[in-house]
Amino acid sequence: MARYSGPVCRLCRREGMKLFLKGERCYTEKCAIEKRNFPPGQHGKRRAQKLAGYGLQLREKQRVKRIYGVLEDQFRLYFENAERQRGITGEVLLQLLERRLDNVVYRLGLATSRPQARELVRHGHFAVNGKKVDIPSFLVKGGDVVMVRERSQKNVTIQHAIEEVKGRGVPEWLQVQPEKFEGRIVSLPTRAMINLPIQEQLIVELYSK
Ligand code: SF4
Repeated sequence: MARYSGPVCRLCRREGMKLFLKGERCYTEKCAIEKRNFPPGQHGKRRAQKLAGYGLQLREKQRVKRIYGVLEDQFRLYFENAERQRGITGEVLLQLLERRLDNVVYRLGLATSRPQARELVRHGHFAVNGKKVDIPSFLVKGGDVVMVRERSQKNVTIQHAIEEVKGRGVPEWLQVQPEKFEGRIVSLPTRAMINLPIQEQLIVELYSK
């Protein structure tokens, strides 16, 4: 299945929330959600009705898929993996998604957005524990060290990203040393550490039908 390649701000407007797909622009008043927070299209304003039941569950799943840039089949695999693990399925699902290398690169402030982080990882700019990893879905674990590879430390996109997102802070399950171009996974994230306005239980209900 092809990945969505249209205007990404439409996705945010469709979901009625910021998905942070465009880097720094998302934090400015130019963000489309700040200006036009209603669904796109000719009848967008009319479509902004209250959802319930299945519609609500479906939207919640779409939101999470779009935030992390994951397609349906892969998302289903994450869910099945979460179901097999101990703990609350919805929370484990979010934890698995947070552990993706592209997400960690973004959260560490080594890229301005998840889509950019995905591209940078794919192009082989990162290493985990000293070993090159170019798979965006690679799952990090506690104690891992994610670093920009030496030959990539002069990469303009990465340098620009570090400069741009300086001061935004990192979640408490991560530690970053931008001057060393690296970050560490202090612990795996708990739900409280994942700042997403998502009701993951709705996704569990959707898949449990
Ligand atoms: Fe979404 Fe970012 Fe576009 Fe705002 S600027 S609508 S958060 S992608």
